[in-house]
Amino acid sequence: MKGLDAVLRLLYPPKCPFCRTLSLDGKPELCQQCRRQLPWTEGSFRGPGEGIYALRYSDVVRQALLRFKFGGCSAYAAVFGEILAQAVAERLSGAFDLVSYVPVSRPRRWVRGYDQAQLLAQAVAEVYGVQAVQTLRKIRHNRPQSGLRSQQARRKNVVGVYRAVEPGRFAGKRVLLIDDIVTTGATFSAAAQTLRQAGAREVVCAALAGE
Ligand SMILES: [Zn+2]
Repeated sequence: MKGLDAVLRLLYPPKCPFCRTLSLDGKPELCQQCRRQLPWTEGSFRGPGEGIYALRYSDVVRQALLRFKFGGCSAYAAVFGEILAQAVAERLSGAFDLVSYVPVSRPRRWVRGYDQAQLLAQAVAEVYGVQAVQTLRKIRHNRPQSGLRSQQARRKNVVGVYRAVEPGRFAGKRVLLIDDIVTTGATFSAAAQTLRQAGAREVVCAALAGE
C-alpha cells in the first residue's frame, strides 16, 4: 500500500489542522505557530463529575472542527487526540479505568462515514496504549444542541437520547468520556448520567473545544 499512500499524500498533503500549513512529517501535525497561538484555555465545566476542555471555540478552532466533522478530514484526529490527552493528563485529577465517547446517531455516522468523537477517543486512548470502548448508543435523533439557546431547552433535548451498551464493561469503573465540543455541558451530563445509572462508579469528561 506504499504506492497508494504516496499518491494520497500528493492529493491530500498532510497539514496542520488549524492553519493548514503543510506538515513536514508526512502526517498532520500541530505547527509551531499554532502551538503558540491557539486559544488554549483552562476551561472547565461540571457535568455530574469533573469536565475540562482544551481550546476556546474560536473561529480558527471552529473551522478546523468543521473540516474534521464534515469535510472528510478524519486524519486530524491524531493531532486533536494529542491535544486532548495532554489536557487530560495535566488537568483531570486521578486515573481512569477506560476511555469512551459520546456517540453520534447511526444515521449520522452512516452519512459521515465515521463518528468524530469515537476517532478522538481512540486517538486519546492510543496515547495511553489502550483501546477506546463504546459504552453508549444514541437511540434518538435529536435536534443539534447548537440550535438551542436556553440551558433548559438543551437539557430537555438530550433526555432519553443515550442508552448504555454492555454495562459489564464499565460497571464499578471510572470512565473518561470524550466529545469534540462542549457548550453548556448538557450532552455530557445526560451521557454521564446514563453511564452512572448503568453502574459506572464515576464519569469524567473532556472535550477538545468549549465556549
Ligand atoms: Zn498551524
